[in-house]
Amino acid sequence: NPPVPPERARRRIGIMGGTFDPIHYGHLLAAEEAYSAFHLDEVIFVPTGLPPHKQADRVTSPEDRYAMTLLATLDNAHSRVSRLEIERRGSSHTVDTLREMRHWYPPDSVEFFFITGLDAVLEILSWKNPQEVSGLCHLVAVSRPGYNPKKMEDLPEAVRRAILPLEIPLLAISSTEIRQRVTQGRSIRYLVPTPVAQYIEKKGLYRGKP
Ligand code: ATP
Ligand code: MG
Repeated sequence: NPPVPPERARRRIGIMGGTFDPIHYGHLLAAEEAYSAFHLDEVIFVPTGLPPHKQADRVTSPEDRYAMTLLATLDNAHSRVSRLEIERRGSSHTVDTLREMRHWYPPDSVEFFFITGLDAVLEILSWKNPQEVSGLCHLVAVSRPGYNPKKMEDLPEAVRRAILPLEIPLLAISSTEIRQRVTQGRSIRYLVPTPVAQYIEKKGLYRGKP
């Protein structure tokens, strides 16, 4: 008789999407807490290309944001960083990324856990095809200071079904504040990993226009 293949559990892959302009300890903690809470096999950080919601702002080049994400996750054996979105022409949408990543794995061999802060989940109705997104992954909604988890009850049932709320130690850190601090010449130590701070310094990022 041919050998029976062993029952293969589905791989559980976390996906941490973000602009990461720059990446900070709020992002890293969210990813790590989701990794432990949902017994994930790994977390893939996916820096956005041209972020659809942020086109009006000046955003740091995808290559710099990718480099900082790599530096921030270097010491974490179960993290990797994908160039998928930064190499895609035009703007990136979560639904396109999920559709594409599904093809990296044999059919039905993987479960995706898309990790977002509560602020992002509450905006999901403004994403491209929110219902399809909800069908392609679990949506891990991590707590973030200033956002009320009760607001998730207002989301349509089809979306709510996909949400896995996750309370994490609240870190009131945002990339916006880090950029402002650098522009003002204030310290960002202990808000971002040291190599990220060194990269920002070396490349002169966020110094503001003369
Ligand atoms: P910006 O201020 O430029 O919007 P940000 O700090 O919100 O930056 P993003 O790259 O926009 O960072 O966020 C990527 C993802 O990480 C989003 O899902 C966001 O909700 C989540 N996130 C960011 N900061 C935190 C934090 N401090 N705690 C929990 N989740 C966070
Ligand atoms: Mg944000």
